[in-house]
Amino acid sequence: MSASSVEAQALAMVKARIRSACLACGRAPDSVRLLAVAKQQSVEKIRAAHAAGQRAFGENYVQEWLDKAKALRDLVDIEWHLIGPLQSNKTRVVAEHAHWVHSIDRLKIAERLSQQRPDHLPPLAVLVQVNISGEASKSGVPPHEAQALIDAVARLPRLALRGVMGMPEPDLDEAATRSQFEGLARIFHEAQERHPQIDTLSMGMSADLELAIACGSTLVRVGTAVFGPRP
Ligand SMILES: *Cc1c(COP(=O)(O)O)cnc(C)c1O
Repeated sequence: MSASSVEAQALAMVKARIRSACLACGRAPDSVRLLAVAKQQSVEKIRAAHAAGQRAFGENYVQEWLDKAKALRDLVDIEWHLIGPLQSNKTRVVAEHAHWVHSIDRLKIAERLSQQRPDHLPPLAVLVQVNISGEASKSGVPPHEAQALIDAVARLPRLALRGVMGMPEPDLDEAATRSQFEGLARIFHEAQERHPQIDTLSMGMSADLELAIACGSTLVRVGTAVFGPRP
């Protein structure tokens, strides 16, 4: 795949957006990681993005991810992030094959992942997902229960707690979106006081990554702006 693939150009544009957003609020341009969200996108597109230098990829659905991971197993340095809701009957494959899970919203799931993480692998990196929008349809622990779940997850031996993840309600105006991002950033900083190893605030997507970075995001999850609209 040439360096001028569609995916390479799109990645360069997203990285330029991340860089300008960092500079606009006085942050170091390398303080924000890019996770390329590949749900419903083809294995060929992931391969092209990998050829363009992208290593961290996000997937929402366990079976879809496993099929793609199998087809891409020659890309040995790929880093898989599970960002969708996780059911208890799917934790084993995730514990065995994922590098990160962003969607920890109850202790039972975290305990299973810790028990099932193979000993020959490093601890599984995890984020606690917080329901910052308050919408009943959205996953995530309610904000007032977040610190207790964070403390419990931090005690599990085969997990490495790295931070929190959240998604604002879609289609809010900028001020309302900002206030939900700021709410998550406060939860992140409060957790960091007790758990200094926490370094990841996963917030911001294609439409709102600049605002998320202004509010302190350290990892943006970008799908459409990297791979185009989902089919
Ligand atoms: C799909 C998805 C994204 C990416 O959304 P885009 O708007 O395509 O950038 C980010 N985070 C989560 C949890 C998602 O499900």
